Amino acid sequence: PSPAQRATAVRDRITELHRRHRTAPVDVVSYYPSEAEARPHVFGLSGVHVSGVRVSFGESEERFPLQSISKVFTYAVALEDNGRAATQARVGVEPSGDPYNSVTFDEAHHRPHNPMINSGALVAAALVRGRDRDHRVARLVERVRAFAGNPEIDVDPAVLEEQLHATDHNLGLAYLMRASGMLHGDVEDTLSVYLSACSITVSTDELAVMGATLANGGVNPITGTRAMPAEYVRDVISVMLTCGMYDGAGQWFHDVGIPAKSGVSGGIVAAIPERIGIAVYSPGLDAHGNSVRGVNICRDLSDRFGLHVFASP
Ligand code: GLN
Repeated sequence: PSPAQRATAVRDRITELHRRHRTAPVDVVSYYPSEAEARPHVFGLSGVHVSGVRVSFGESEERFPLQSISKVFTYAVALEDNGRAATQARVGVEPSGDPYNSVTFDEAHHRPHNPMINSGALVAAALVRGRDRDHRVARLVERVRAFAGNPEIDVDPAVLEEQLHATDHNLGLAYLMRASGMLHGDVEDTLSVYLSACSITVSTDELAVMGATLANGGVNPITGTRAMPAEYVRDVISVMLTCGMYDGAGQWFHDVGIPAKSGVSGGIVAAIPERIGIAVYSPGLDAHGNSVRGVNICRDLSDRFGLHVFASP
C-alpha cells in the first residue's frame, strides 16, 4: 500500500477504536466537580507525529483545564530556571505510590517524592522565577503557548476562581511543607502560580502538539519553535513515565508503556520520543483520578500500534 493508503488505514482503525470506546460501558468512580457532570459524553482524541502530521477524533476542539497535566510544564520551567541538581535537591523523582494529593514526603531527603503529585508540583511552582506572582504565571502561560503553538492559550479565570476557593488541602500541604523547610517564600503566591497553571485551558488538538513537542526533543513540530531546553526533555519525560499517572503509574506502564501525564479534568497527554504526542479528554475518572476512557483507549492504541516501549517488534 502507498503511504497515503497506509495513513487512511491507520485513521480508519483509530476511528473505529474511538467509536467503540465512546459507547463501551465505563466504570466511572468520579468526576471533577464543575468539570464534567455536564458533559460526560465528551471524548476528544488527537495525535501529532513529530513530522507534523495531525489526526483528530471526536470533540478534539473542546477546551478543558490542564489541571495536573500542567505539572509537566511547571517542572520543565523549574528545571530551566534552577538546573537539574538544584531542582532535584528540592523535589525528587521517585514514584510515591500514593494518591496525587497525599501528605507524605521523602523524609530521608527532606523533599516531596516527585513533581507530578501536588506536593512536588507546589515546590516546582515555587521554583519558577519571576518578578512577582503575575510575572511567574505569565512565564508559565508563555511556555504552554510555545509547547502548543497557540498564542491565545490562557488561564480561565472562572476555573481559577473556583479552584482558589476549594483548595484548603493544597494550602494545608503548602503550609506544612513550609513549616518543615521544604517550601520557601509566600505560600499564597506559590498556590496561585500552581493553580493558575492548573487553570490553563486547552483542547486535545493543542495538547497533542504539546506532547509532540516533548516527543520532538522540545521543539514544536508544527511551529518549529523551541519550547524548552533540549537537555531537560529527558528529565521531564522520565518523571512522566515513572510518576505521571499518580498511584496508577505502575499499572499504566505495564499496560500502556508510554510516558504520560493525567489531570483530574479527564485529560491525558502522552509523549513517545521521536514518534508522536497523543492527547485524550474524557471526564469520567477512575479511583486514581485518571480518565477511564482515556486510559482504556490508550491501552488499545498501544496494543494495536505497538507503542509500548517494550513491545516486541
Ligand atoms: N488543581 C487540582 C488540585 O490541585 C489538580 C489536581 C489534579 O489534576 N490531580 O487539586
